[in-house]
Parts: sequence; structure tokens; C-alpha cells
Amino acid sequence: MKINKWPNLGRVIVLILMTALIILGIIIFNKKKNNVVSIKILSAKTPELTVMPTEIPTILPTKTPESTPISTITPTPALMSFEDMNKNFGPCVKVNVLMYHHIQNEDEAKTKNQTSLSVTPDFFRKHLQYLKDKNYTVIEPKDLIAFFGGAEQLSGKLAMITLDDAYEDNYINAYPILKEFGIKATIFTPTGLVNNPDYFTWDQMNQMKDLVYFGNHTWSHHSSGGTEEKQDEEIGLADKQLGEKGFNDQKVFAYPYGKPSGNAEEVLKNKNYNLAFTTTYGNIMCKQKSFELPRIRMGNALLNKYGL
Ligand SMILES: [Zn+2]
Repeated sequence: MKINKWPNLGRVIVLILMTALIILGIIIFNKKKNNVVSIKILSAKTPELTVMPTEIPTILPTKTPESTPISTITPTPALMSFEDMNKNFGPCVKVNVLMYHHIQNEDEAKTKNQTSLSVTPDFFRKHLQYLKDKNYTVIEPKDLIAFFGGAEQLSGKLAMITLDDAYEDNYINAYPILKEFGIKATIFTPTGLVNNPDYFTWDQMNQMKDLVYFGNHTWSHHSSGGTEEKQDEEIGLADKQLGEKGFNDQKVFAYPYGKPSGNAEEVLKNKNYNLAFTTTYGNIMCKQKSFELPRIRMGNALLNKYGL
């Protein structure tokens, strides 16, 4: 019995060591398995990033998954090229859609605390002069609709002028300058604000309609978040009011506050809308993104500062 005691202890030690090795093996195997899982998640996220072409490049890096354990797998944040956009969402065309709000002098803008949404009449004129000097063709929403429908070819350097919110200064300051150049523009109009103080009137809209297209910007400048019912009410009422006055026959929309939403898009499609503009930065217009069209926000700087 005493002779067998030591070999037994040896067996026990060997057994413990083997068990420890097996546990260690399981731990290592599981860790590797977890890594494989996280790689799969990462690579699954990659397409999402590349489908964000209209974002400003500086916004993209924050969309990179933060808990990336293996840096070499991190996708390179980059805007999609025109060719890639055309392949995925085409047909596409490059149009610099310039976005304005107030057109007023700096003093006025400061007094009213509207400097961030204002461009001076002087700069507005300089912008139109630049487009003319550099041989830009200023197109209208109907040209873009025709292009998406395959009925019109667009070529050369293209621009579109848009102003949001129906401010009276558009009539007082912008319209005369548009008239000077014979350049057409689109004003996205929250119809419930028309005839209110600081907003233009239905009568002034009639006066401007030779050069200005009036698009839907909801009734009360309502954000595109919220229920489909609310979107239907807001978009529907503006659609009805514009239609009754003989405006917006091309069914063009701009999202108040710039952000698109699934509910708003659904309502717009149900109401046979053709185009919807955001405030997202970019100048590539694609047919399959015609409800998320990008624009370029203007300020008091020359157009070459905006890449034109
Ligand atoms: Zn607006």
C-alpha cells in the first residue's frame, strides 16, 4: 500500500496539470473566437460607411466604430467618388446647389441676430457674377427631374440657386439681383409663414414667379422627425396651398432643419414628389438619392471658397 502511494500522487498531479492545460486551452480558444466575431461585426459595418457619401469628410471619422480592437481592419473614411456614386445610385450628375436663407446687409443681420443665416446682397451679386463669368449653367429643379427621368442630358458646369424659409428680404434684396442677371432660383416656402411679418406675401410670390420656383418646405417649418400623420398634415397642407395658388407643379421639397426622415420620405413619395433637398454637404445628385439631395451652404465668401 505504501509503495503505491507515491505513484498515485504523481497521477493526481498529472491529472491536475492536464485539467489546467485543458481549461487554458478553452480560454485561449474562446478569446480567438471572440476576435473572429468582432472582425465579422466590423466588416459587416464597412458597407454602411461607404453608403454615407454626402457627409462632409470631417463628419465621417466619428462614425468609425470606437471599440475597434484591430486597427488594420478600420475602413478608410472617404467620400465616394462620382464614379462609385454613379455605379451605386446613378444616374448621377454634378450640380452645385447653393443654399441661402436671408439676403441682407451685415448690420441688419447683426441687429436681428441672423448673421449665421445671412449673406449680404453684395456677396449674393458676386456669386451670380462668378457663375456668369465662369460659364456655369444655372438649372432649375425641373431640369434635374428631367435628367433623372432620362428626358434631358445635363453637361458642363452646373449650379442651382435655392433660398429657404420665405423671408421678405428675398423679395426686397435677392429678387432684384436675380432680375439683374436673369438667373432663376427656387425658394422653399413654409406656406403658413407667408403673409406674416418679415416673410414675403402671396402677392410678392406672384411678382417673383418669372424667375422664382416655389417649393414645399412644410406648412409651419416643421422638422421631419415625428409621426407619418404629422408629416402628412404638414407636407400635405403646404402642398395644397401652393397648388391652389398655382405653384410647385414639379413637386419639389426641402426638409426643414435639413434632415431627411423615413416618415417624411414616405409621405413625399405618396404625394408624387420628385425631389427632396437636405442641408447635407455635397454636389453629386443621384437618381436613387433624389429624396436626399445635398446642397452647399453659402456665407459671405467668394464662390471659389466653396469649390466652384
Ligand atoms: Zn428652413
